[in-house]
Amino acid sequence: VKRDNRSGYAFYSCEMDAEKHARRSFERDVSLAAAAGQLSVVYQPQAHVESCDIVGFEALLRWKHPIHGFVSPEKFIPAAEACGVIAEIGAFVLREALAQAARWPEHLRVSVNASPAQIVHVDFAHLVEETLRASNVDPSRLEIEVTESLFIYDSNAAMRTLERLKALGVSVAIDDFGTGYSSLSTLRSFPFDRIKIDRSFIADMVENTDAAAIVNSILSLGRALGRPVIAEGVETQFQLEMLRDLGCSEVQGYLIGKPLPIAKYAQIVKPAPKS
Ligand code: C2E
Ligand code: CA
Ligand code: CA
Ligand code: CA
Repeated sequence: VKRDNRSGYAFYSCEMDAEKHARRSFERDVSLAAAAGQLSVVYQPQAHVESCDIVGFEALLRWKHPIHGFVSPEKFIPAAEACGVIAEIGAFVLREALAQAARWPEHLRVSVNASPAQIVHVDFAHLVEETLRASNVDPSRLEIEVTESLFIYDSNAAMRTLERLKALGVSVAIDDFGTGYSSLSTLRSFPFDRIKIDRSFIADMVENTDAAAIVNSILSLGRALGRPVIAEGVETQFQLEMLRDLGCSEVQGYLIGKPLPIAKYAQIVKPAPKS
């Protein structure tokens, strides 16, 4: 019995090592990705509900691993946070997104995601300021998307960064709204410029009256607070019509357009001819 236990333990500990090893090598790959040119940014359009005009694009990171192919950001962003390269990767996305936006017509905004680990870093607002200056993009065209988890992380540091972003003229959106532990108090902690309803509510709202009621109440909340609301994950015409009837101002999702290299949206982003 004793021996079985011992070998059982040995096996377990070996598996732990293998897991640890795999994680380490994954983290090492993540940290090399930017320098190796494996990262790229795709853009997903955001549209006005009434006119269906494109109002901006969300920048979404892509990593093409040489062996594993495309790795989901849901997977590598946490790894990048864990091994401390998120700042570097975040700076890459910001630079890419603003370099693109500089070539677009000026009415189009660009949204960039920032993870809590970036926001609480003292230099984030400075990085944004410098990157805006280098790209010559008006700060009002940049929107930073943050999630509610930001406030469990380090709410004082987070608040300072968000206030500095606002002072620069950059807008701040609350992403995945409704999925956190305290969505309402999040809204009270900071005057977000836009509320993004999480796509899980949009996915369910056609079949599920509770999800529809939640969407409706987030929209009323936005109206009461004077904040525009954007719905993400809109995939069907029916969802779009429902959101229009409920008074939602903007939508994003496969129905409008998938996240793609910007060349695929050349028609939308081509600059107005100079006169
Ligand atoms: P997110 O910010 O909530 O981004 C929206 C996600 O929903 C994207 O997944 C997008 O491709 C997907 N999506 C958009 N429209 C639809 C739709 O109609 N139906 C469905 N089913 N999905 C849709 P993606 O690109 O895989 O990104 C996943 C998450 O990774 C993002 O969620 C964001 O939290 C994170 N992420 C992506 N890029 C960055 C980045 O540059 N920095 C940071 N910190 N996080 C990022
Ligand atoms: Ca987002
Ligand atoms: Ca989201
Ligand atoms: Ca999400």
